[in-house]
Amino acid sequence: MGFDTQAIHAGEEPDFTGHPSGDVVVPVHLASTFARRDVDEPTGGFEYSRSGNPTRFALEKKLAAIENARYGLAFSSGLAAETTLCLSLLKAGDHVVAFDDLYGGTRRLFTRVFQESYGIHFSYVDARDPENVKAAIRRETKLVWLESPTNPLLRLCDIREIAGIAHDAGALVVVDNTFASPYFQQPIALGADVVVHSTTKYINGHSDSIGGALITSDEELFRNLRFHQNTAGAILSPFDSFLVARGIKTLAVRMERHERNALAVAGFLSAHRNVTAVYYPGLPSHPQHTLARKQMTGFSGMLSFELKGGKAEAKRFLRNLHLFALAESLGGVESLIEHPATMTHASVPQEERRNVGVSDALIRVSVGIENADDLIADLDQALGTL
Ligand code: PLP
Repeated sequence: MGFDTQAIHAGEEPDFTGHPSGDVVVPVHLASTFARRDVDEPTGGFEYSRSGNPTRFALEKKLAAIENARYGLAFSSGLAAETTLCLSLLKAGDHVVAFDDLYGGTRRLFTRVFQESYGIHFSYVDARDPENVKAAIRRETKLVWLESPTNPLLRLCDIREIAGIAHDAGALVVVDNTFASPYFQQPIALGADVVVHSTTKYINGHSDSIGGALITSDEELFRNLRFHQNTAGAILSPFDSFLVARGIKTLAVRMERHERNALAVAGFLSAHRNVTAVYYPGLPSHPQHTLARKQMTGFSGMLSFELKGGKAEAKRFLRNLHLFALAESLGGVESLIEHPATMTHASVPQEERRNVGVSDALIRVSVGIENADDLIADLDQALGTL
């Protein structure tokens, strides 16, 4: 079945929910607990809403379907999903190799919590070259943690090749697929063991829910993750589960439009005199455009660029925009823009930011699905004030 069909129907087959009215949309099951007739027979398998909730369950089926995987789990945020994954798979003394250009909050979680308080070690490498991953792997390496494309520099890594390297060394591969969305990239088919999402972004798509997901096709891994989801408790609420499931139904059409607008905006920025660099995997000038074409089916709606000047110019430009909201987050229908050095990546120490290449002139854009001409006109007038 096609992605767009799965996105609409998976998990929401009218008879699947067992609801007597045959709802075509899974209802919001707010009950915190479920009555049973006999002590050893939970009704429909549901006992207590932390352990399992029908609305969340429908969403979890849909999440698995759109990643072309067997199992999905929904969490109260992307970071809750990441935390649960680390709690499930890592213990003191273990080692993780991670792409150096990660979402700042992921790096903060690794460094400030799992490294400083739990004695887990992390090596950050430029995973654009798989040899760097290979060289960093040790006997204690349990996980290789990738984002592709990365936040905020839109760098890519060869998921299939790195999965081969990690598996040869007995390590599992995690891919944060938030930027691409499952519509444009399916890491499990490329060899990843677990996919992470901040569903807050493209998957929900309307900037009105914080959520996260873990998706896998490995049954043993799934059981372990589900045990920790229930035990640590960072589940997605029934209402948010409903919102995210609703968002997924339009993921395919939204992603097509995000990409079309992003290509137009990237083309415009590339030709502007006050822009010194544009990072968008869909541009043939992107150094990893060939890899993008190989492992993705599209380029998504995220891009970043460098302005002529520094922080002062960046601030002036951002202040002068009318249509783009100056806000963290991404992947919603509305265009958002931000300054990674002072916003999303402020938690990454300045020196590490510099080493990775996050400069004070860097601007990150989440291109929405408005009219592309309106977006370009707004950028044009604000760039003209520099
Ligand atoms: N992964 C990526 C790539 C992100 O951009 C974010 C948030 O911006 C997260 C994970 C964390 O997700 P959440 O904010 O839903 O906890």
